[in-house]
Amino acid sequence: MYDVAVIGAGMAGMATAARLQAGGLATIVFEAHGQAGGCAGFFRRNGFAFDVGATTLVDFDAGGGVGGQFLRDIAMPPINGDPLPGYVAWLPDRRVTLFRDQASWVVERLRALGDSPVHRSFWQWMDRLAAVFWKASRNGVKLPIQCAGDIVQAVRAVGLMNLPLVRYVGWTMGDALRSLGLRHDQPLAGLLSMLLEDTVHAQIDDAPLINGALGITIRGAGLTRARGGMYGFWRSFVAHYRSLGGILRVGCRVSKVEDLGAGDGFRLRTRRGDFAARQVVSAVPAALTARIAPKAVARALNPYLQRDASALGGAVVVFLGVPDDEVAGQSFTHHQLLHDYSGPLGNGNNMFISVSAPGDTLSAPEGYRSVMISTHCELEEWEGLTSSEYMAHKERAGTRLIALARRVYPDLGRSAVVQEVATPRTFERFTLRPRGAVGGVRQSLLNSNQRALSYDIGVPGFWLAGDTTWPGLGTVACVLGSRIVAEAVLSQRLRDLSRRAFLMNPCASLHH
Ligand SMILES: Cc1cc2nc3c(=O)[nH]c(=O)nc-3n(C[C@H](O)[C@H](O)[C@H](O)COP(=O)(O)OP(=O)(O)OC[C@H]3O[C@@H](n4cnc5c(N)ncnc54)[C@H](O)[C@@H]3O)c2cc1C
Repeated sequence: MYDVAVIGAGMAGMATAARLQAGGLATIVFEAHGQAGGCAGFFRRNGFAFDVGATTLVDFDAGGGVGGQFLRDIAMPPINGDPLPGYVAWLPDRRVTLFRDQASWVVERLRALGDSPVHRSFWQWMDRLAAVFWKASRNGVKLPIQCAGDIVQAVRAVGLMNLPLVRYVGWTMGDALRSLGLRHDQPLAGLLSMLLEDTVHAQIDDAPLINGALGITIRGAGLTRARGGMYGFWRSFVAHYRSLGGILRVGCRVSKVEDLGAGDGFRLRTRRGDFAARQVVSAVPAALTARIAPKAVARALNPYLQRDASALGGAVVVFLGVPDDEVAGQSFTHHQLLHDYSGPLGNGNNMFISVSAPGDTLSAPEGYRSVMISTHCELEEWEGLTSSEYMAHKERAGTRLIALARRVYPDLGRSAVVQEVATPRTFERFTLRPRGAVGGVRQSLLNSNQRALSYDIGVPGFWLAGDTTWPGLGTVACVLGSRIVAEAVLSQRLRDLSRRAFLMNPCASLHH
């Protein structure tokens, strides 16, 4: 019997498994797809490696960041990659460079977006919220608060002096802008909309303020692109996990988890046989967990799934393998583009272009680069299509994204040697995510923080991880969540060990 079985080898599952394995537990990870990575994974084609979703790792600097700390916890060497100096946001009428360096960013945002006293106040406010709550996240704050211990931990993590800031938990980013008379400041609101859609998946008037402040300052926490992109990252991460003794079973989908009762653990059914584990971490979207988990888990999840059913979104991604000269002329490799202030976001109006670093021959053959262009989309527009309608829609979406990306790289894609497009159907096929929804639920005051889905849904020994549980959304949140889940698993193990010791020798245990 394994100490812990983890379902899903995406960022959340693998980070949790690696922590537990490094902590001395015997872990096994089941992954339905042929390789680890999930939405932060990769595929290879003709000598190119493409990132399917996430192209950057957040806060993985060697310092005290969430990712950096994680690498230290599992004794893994720092990421072999390039810290991005920032990226360029292309608004309809101006460009703003989102510098990683805070001093440069302070100058740039006032230059590009206005330096009136209210603009300054707005940014100071965001900086303060971000500083306090990034620190709290790194210090292990845990939401939703479920017991007195969580309150103590939260107060400690936020710090007594900063507690008054907690009142903003009921505010949206729109409320903050309105309070300063900035809601209709088009360039500022435009930039914030892009950053919020990208990080908390919400529009300005829905985005919870504190989560939004963290989202819009994310590049300050440091973005890193590994050599070889996610292919390079997973290659070393999986090798490290295995070197710790962890077992990763790929092509091994879990179809059912049964509770053996009486604290005896769980049985996981797969097409390669049954496996037993004392504890289970389900690191797949909550809707998938509900399908395979014991009834008590599904019952606990259902209210959340119903509530969040309309808060899901998808993505369309274009992958290009192009000669170097098609991406010449820009000093930054990452760009985010908004084309129309008044149009709805998504489908190209707010899109990302990520280019592999020059000389990164793990990502592309010499003289070539891999390019990923991504944008958000609604799921409905990809549903109910015949296969020819789907192919035509996919073709149009790909062509449109490449055309829009030529604002940055005028010749992009003209001599591409690889060109592929992923849609919600692709994500559903390769990651099993229901309807192909990616990135977690769109955050609002109704479903985030105290109302978020917890890693602990009240079934001892069965835990949730991944971007549909708090803190949700993105690789850094998955890594943060993995720490909280790993702590819960270790505490449960101690409780189990003392229970077993008591059952074997009640008198001795009482004496102790
Ligand atoms: C286009 C796009 C761009 C993004 N950009 C960024 C970015 O730049 N930075 C960032 O931080 N984040 C980004 N994200 C978000 C980030 O990739 C995800 O939030 C994160 O990777 C989710 O990880 P996860 O482990 O929660 O879930 P997943 O990645 O979905 O992993 C779950 C895994 O479980 C497997 N699985 C499912 N069911 C079963 C089963 N029954 N048995 C066994 N295995 C199963 C799946 O195959 C999958 O590998 C992006 C996402 C997308 C789609």
